[in-house]
Amino acid sequence: MSRRDQEDIRRKQLIDTTIHVMAQVGFNATTLGLIAKHAGVSAGLVAHYFGDKDGLLEATLRSLASRLSRAAAARMRAAKTPRERVQAVVDANLAPEEMDSQTSAVWLAFWGQAIHSDRLKRVQRIYQLRVLSNLRHALRQMTTGEEAERLAVIIAAIIDGLWLRTTLAAAWSPSDSEAARRIAAGFIDTQLPMSFEGPTMSHLPATASAAPPRIANWIGGAYRPNPAAETFATINPATGEVLAEIEIADAAQLEAAIASAKTGQKIWARMTGMERGRVLRRVADLLRANNDDLARLETQDTGKPIQETEVVDVISGADCIEYFAGLAGGITGESVDLGPNAMGYTRREPLGIVAGIGAWNYPIQIACWKSAPALACGNAMIFKPSELTPLTAFKLAEIMTEAGVPDGVFNVLPGDGRTGSLLVTHPAIAKVSLTGSVPTGKKVMAAAAETLKHVTLELGGKSPIIVFADADIESAISGAMLGNFYSAGEVCSNGTRVFVHRSIKDKFISRLLERTAKIKIGDPMDPETQMGALISDAHMRKVLGFIERGVAEGATLLCGGKRVTDGALAQGNFVSPAVFDATGDDFTIVREEIFGPVMTILTFDTEADVVARANDTEFGLGAGVFTQDITRAHRVIAELQAGTCWINTYNITPIELPFGGYKQSGLGRENSRAALDHYSQIKSVYVALAPVESPY
Ligand code: NDP
Repeated sequence: MSRRDQEDIRRKQLIDTTIHVMAQVGFNATTLGLIAKHAGVSAGLVAHYFGDKDGLLEATLRSLASRLSRAAAARMRAAKTPRERVQAVVDANLAPEEMDSQTSAVWLAFWGQAIHSDRLKRVQRIYQLRVLSNLRHALRQMTTGEEAERLAVIIAAIIDGLWLRTTLAAAWSPSDSEAARRIAAGFIDTQLPMSFEGPTMSHLPATASAAPPRIANWIGGAYRPNPAAETFATINPATGEVLAEIEIADAAQLEAAIASAKTGQKIWARMTGMERGRVLRRVADLLRANNDDLARLETQDTGKPIQETEVVDVISGADCIEYFAGLAGGITGESVDLGPNAMGYTRREPLGIVAGIGAWNYPIQIACWKSAPALACGNAMIFKPSELTPLTAFKLAEIMTEAGVPDGVFNVLPGDGRTGSLLVTHPAIAKVSLTGSVPTGKKVMAAAAETLKHVTLELGGKSPIIVFADADIESAISGAMLGNFYSAGEVCSNGTRVFVHRSIKDKFISRLLERTAKIKIGDPMDPETQMGALISDAHMRKVLGFIERGVAEGATLLCGGKRVTDGALAQGNFVSPAVFDATGDDFTIVREEIFGPVMTILTFDTEADVVARANDTEFGLGAGVFTQDITRAHRVIAELQAGTCWINTYNITPIELPFGGYKQSGLGRENSRAALDHYSQIKSVYVALAPVESPY
């Protein structure tokens, strides 16, 4: 068992003991010492894990609330119709285990205490928000948006009322739980259309008449609806279904976000790095605990296969937040010896309010990669997700609040380029970090110059993979396929120019085609699917346009490159993986970023020739070399003009290594200690140790 697992078990034991002690002696009499005594450990150890009593109680309430949310999520997953999903929320909240005398005594103590404690209030608010949003989501599939809103509030109140009445009854028995659930079910049935049976989620037609949910901006730790806001729809690229209507942030919303970020950032920056790290670590834990639900949402919003999002997208975000949580306590300045009469020291201080602007291909990962170092350094962030994939950024915001990140420290302002532009030009924002295309990067940098903002740009690429004659061919093919077909090729660092040594080219291609033919394209929610949908109809047409142009310019299309319209796939943006054999480096498909499943094979003879050709591009994001010759591997890598390089693999991006581009692929670095430099500024302090020598 790892040290971390052991610590988690210890934390859980202490939380269980707290529940037990609190049920016995009440909220006020519960002390760290008493809990330590019951747990058979020292009070110092309890303080080590939770800081103080408030920290322990907050962790306990969070644990109760998360357990309940997980139980509700599991029941909702098992439910087949929207009506069953509403009942699943009721059943989870009124389950016997939530009503027994010990648990109910603790819940009651917390609800009472939340009035006086901001930390507890925040956890309670998130829990209530989650109940409401689960109810609303299911109800919207049965009735109008307005009616769903009204019913969700009433059902949530009924759940609370029934729970309270039942647990306060003199003698409680498990059958009371069943009776309470029956009463709630009876009420719900009187409120819903008589004949409603409800389609199951997976068979819901793309044009379901029930309105999709409307999502407001997340400002100051809560959704702030703006009925007058313009909205945009976010669409499932695999089915065409509208997933949600999102309110576009305007200048007034931005001002509200700035005001809350200013307040939140002061509180956040005053906390020690250790304290910030502890909160961020909880964010990482909650991301992992909610991995499956978040992955499903990400798959619906991006069209990427669930077999990817379940193991990469959320986990990589959580890893990043955990990594910077660990670094937060070690962000320090230095002390400088200036001789006997003076000394100097530096302070590493946050920048203030920073803006993050995300691309659509790795939405939650990008939101985490930007917010983790920003928050670790004590900044507040206003994040604008891409309008094509805004959903998981809101979930990250909810989780941040649940974990204890102060209100205003992470805000989500959705919108298109106009919202991005408002952020980039606002004088109160000290820095902007963009992941996007090169043209947008140039616009952002120019606009940021007006107010001299710090800028980090993670932009596009047209990266080379070089396969030498001595390479392990099977491994090189795996690398090339990963570097071209993962996420349907919508990866910035993809190695889309695959240079293969002439002597192995035929063998390489024949095996590559054999393996590519087996890639399973299909419903992204199917765990067997290896390639899902492209992000939008417009993007699919752009990718198909590049393929047509490749053929027209004389490159040989060896496989794929067609729209896939079998059965239900006709409703989505599916393209079969394409492999081109190109005779030269001037084809459009060799020069421009396609951002789709399109690999181009190029042939080379000498090392000097391939290095020159690999570098002959305006981009410089990634590069890969496959060879068994270790000397050549390092020699070639040293010559390649790219920010992130791989030897004998491709596209692996551990958080511990800096990530970013050379040339037009970007400025600055994400991940690793290097990112801290981009989210902090250094203050130098000169301290005189002798009287001022003055000529006057
Ligand atoms: P875009 O450049 O179109 O958009 C990126 C973000 O910038 C979006 O949120 C977009 O808003 C916003 N935006 C657009 N115009 C402006 C503006 N004038 N001012 C401020 N913000 C603006 O990129 P895509 O979303 O299409 O993403 C694909 C690109 O991202 C590819 O080139 C890819 O290589 C690159 N990328 C780079 C990565 C890296 O780490 N280097 C990683 C992933 C992708 P909206 O879309 O809502 O209109």
